[in-house]
Amino acid sequence: MNHRARKRFGQNFLQDFSVIERIVSSMRLDADDNVVEIGPGLGALTLPLLAQLKQLHVIEIDRDLIQRLEAKELEGLHIQSADVLKVDLQTLAMGNSLRVVGNLPYNIGTPLLLRLLDIHPMLRDVHVMLQKEVVDRLDATCGNRAFGRLSVMMQSVFKIEPLFTVPPTAFEPAPKIDSAVVRLSPLENPLSADDIKALERCTRIAFASKRKTLRNNMKGYLDDQSLEAIDINPQARAETLDINAFHRLSKRLSEG
Ligand code: SAM
Repeated sequence: MNHRARKRFGQNFLQDFSVIERIVSSMRLDADDNVVEIGPGLGALTLPLLAQLKQLHVIEIDRDLIQRLEAKELEGLHIQSADVLKVDLQTLAMGNSLRVVGNLPYNIGTPLLLRLLDIHPMLRDVHVMLQKEVVDRLDATCGNRAFGRLSVMMQSVFKIEPLFTVPPTAFEPAPKIDSAVVRLSPLENPLSADDIKALERCTRIAFASKRKTLRNNMKGYLDDQSLEAIDINPQARAETLDINAFHRLSKRLSEG
């Protein structure tokens, strides 16, 4: 029986074998790797991944799709029926070796990325398909229109490598927009958990109103003098500050 794609679960199934092949080969898998796939769907990535691995853990929210996968009785496949946003991914990590892969449903892309920040010490890398617009935001540098909170947070913890763009025709049903595959690898010296928390607060305040100057967004938190003392122009807008300036701002803000 054919599966009818469910919009609420962001189901756009990969049907282009060359794209599937590119995603899998970009991971350069070893048979013993500890891999979790988010949203296996009908198995477009699952089967070629499993062909190269001894074991594969998958997390899927749609029970119909789970039944289909279970019916295949694939050796080495561990199927978890759950909303990935509610799963403690740390329990899957053995040491710092977890590799995450998935053609992510659009509605959970950004929340999932933000959750990866917290568990980055457990991760080896992440290969995910997202809306191209989200990958542009991940990779944007200051001054670029796409630069914002997501760019600052993710670039403070991960090396971001956009790999390739994928057109709507690669999926069934076809989405309206382009997608892109990105690789994230934890930086050698990422921020500590406390510093990540502080940066989350700092970026929330600094970007509160994108059109306002830092002087206005930081009102009640830091005055002009304090900003100038860390070499930040109070009349600048948040989107013009580079990552290092954000780290200075975050440190100063948490000092009170
Ligand atoms: N990997 C398949 C492929 O490439 O053809 C399916 C990709 S489809 C874009 C996203 C998949 O994630 C669907 O199978 C969907 O049911 C599943 N999904 C959606 N929301 C989820 C969630 N919160 N937790 C786990 N899986 C989810």
